[in-house]
Amino acid sequence: MSIKETKAKYLEQNFKLRQRGIRLVSYRVPCCGATLEGRLASAMEEWESVATCPECGELYMKYTTDRKISAELLATK
Ligand SMILES: [Zn+2]
Repeated sequence: MSIKETKAKYLEQNFKLRQRGIRLVSYRVPCCGATLEGRLASAMEEWESVATCPECGELYMKYTTDRKISAELLATK
């Protein structure tokens, strides 16, 4: 997927979440310093995933809890 497609998908996803009344929180990605938005996990849940930055196309680790989202550079690089 190109960065353009990644960004379009990211914006579309967040638009849909907002339409459903789901609260988004912002977080900063380590790759390019962009501020992104995402949904929180459900109570007591934690999600860990590899995500693609919609601004620069870098991969980063995304940690989501029910209170915040944080992002770190991938360790293997
Ligand atoms: Zn980036």
